[in-house]
Amino acid sequence: MDFAKKYDSNYPVIVIDRDFNIVFSNRNSRKIYGNIEGKKCYQVFNNLSSPCYKVMPYVCPIRVLKNTKNKEFTGLYHLNSCGDRYVLMNVIKDKDFFIQKHRFFAEKEFSLPDFKRVLDLLGEGIIIFDTKGIVRYTNKKFLSMFGIKKEPDFFFDKHIDKIRSLFPEEIKDIFSRQEEIPEGEEYLLHFPNRYITVKKSVLDNSFLLWSFIEKKEMDLGDEIFRVLLETTPVGIFLQCSGRFMYINPTMASILETTPGSLIGSSIFDFVHPEYRGKVAEIAKRRNSGERFTEKYVIKVVTGKNKIKWVEITSQTISFRDKNCGIGSVVDITDRKKLEEDLRNLATVDQLTGIYNRYAFERFLEREISRAERYGTKFAILMFDIDNFKQINDIYGHQVGDKVLKEIVQVIKKHIRRSDIFARWGGEEFMVLVPIKNKADAYKIAEKIRKTVENHIFENIKHLTISIGISFYKEGDSIKSLIRRADTALYEAKKTGKNKTVIAD
Ligand code: GH3
Ligand code: MG
Ligand code: MG
Repeated sequence: MDFAKKYDSNYPVIVIDRDFNIVFSNRNSRKIYGNIEGKKCYQVFNNLSSPCYKVMPYVCPIRVLKNTKNKEFTGLYHLNSCGDRYVLMNVIKDKDFFIQKHRFFAEKEFSLPDFKRVLDLLGEGIIIFDTKGIVRYTNKKFLSMFGIKKEPDFFFDKHIDKIRSLFPEEIKDIFSRQEEIPEGEEYLLHFPNRYITVKKSVLDNSFLLWSFIEKKEMDLGDEIFRVLLETTPVGIFLQCSGRFMYINPTMASILETTPGSLIGSSIFDFVHPEYRGKVAEIAKRRNSGERFTEKYVIKVVTGKNKIKWVEITSQTISFRDKNCGIGSVVDITDRKKLEEDLRNLATVDQLTGIYNRYAFERFLEREISRAERYGTKFAILMFDIDNFKQINDIYGHQVGDKVLKEIVQVIKKHIRRSDIFARWGGEEFMVLVPIKNKADAYKIAEKIRKTVENHIFENIKHLTISIGISFYKEGDSIKSLIRRADTALYEAKKTGKNKTVIAD
């Protein structure tokens, strides 16, 4: 192709092939860059030894044109090779070649009206904030990209909080965390039927420029991948240096937030404090480059302050020359809840919420073996409500149930955390008390008995209980301990009720 004739223009024109080789450079370009034909474009313009996008976050026009069906790309660039100057770069795809033209902007030419015109020509959507969160500029592309039916002027000088509601869900949270998101990284966001990449740049230390590039058309591989990521019931994330680089929509919905609130944020923000150590340990091994796959279950705290259980499977990958972690996240809250319910069902009394007979026997077993091994002492207090049949007869069974719940609450307040309180059955209860001697066991039983006697119950007002105590003796079994307590209780009933009897 006779490039020289075709591109004899007043601007530098450079023709680049698919492998980033400069195959032609016009007269104007030669004046500035010398003989650059045969060199790689990233060498000439960015002083880099491999393609820009591999080394740093950089929207490479050639890569964009290679990966999409777009024919043309325009962007604002700051090229290392030409000093501190910006160029407006325009790249057109011409069969297998990429025709790059660029125009310089001198500092003094960079007046605001001109700057605005330039920005309106860009294929990127742009919005610029000052450090106070006030919009200083937005171009037309930004608004059309997100279907916002307002003129750019409408947004100028308005604070983000005033206009946030006009932006789509996916991005509005990003602007609330402007300071926090690392500069220069490219993030990928899903929108219905398209991807948009987002990048933050800082201008003159006092303006934050957000640029958005739309990837509308993709090849089949990309498209299959995008649909899978958008529709899978599994959450997918990519994290580098402990910050989210990518999150699929499911991941955001598991965490009850939006992808926009997650990108750039610390992976620890959502991890339940109990599991931060574990996650930190895994992240540390990943950052150091160790290759491993790990499956683990942790608790997370969602954006709505809900605690969820998730199962994560993650792996180390190399991304943009960094060691990162890619992982899948499955919400297992329902499964955990079911497991917990089943566990509770086996050990907890459904009416009163204290331990059931089965659990009490297990505790008693454990306490007996402790006593045998370490010589510890304990007592069991068995009590039965006096004349409970009458309560059912007079007030009905439902009130009877309420009384059982109430008596449990009253007694709970007067025993220690180390005591095991259980419903033995019907209106009979057990308390296992680690204690040194019989006299103390008797005092505790009397305290409980008097507490009940003095409590004013709802509906029925007054209620009493009788208590039988057995104190652990060497050689005791579950059976013998319970038999002695039962006999003592029978004795208490027989000799007038509302009293405590201690077995020999
Ligand atoms: P005593 O002073 O001799 O213990 O007399 P009592 O009337 O309390 O007699 P007993 O302990 O033998 O009777 C227990 C009654 O408690 C029998 C039953 O109707 C009632 N009961 C047992 N379990 C429940 C329950 O879960 N709910 C209700 N409402 N009543 C129960
Ligand atoms: Mg009874
Ligand atoms: Mg009774």
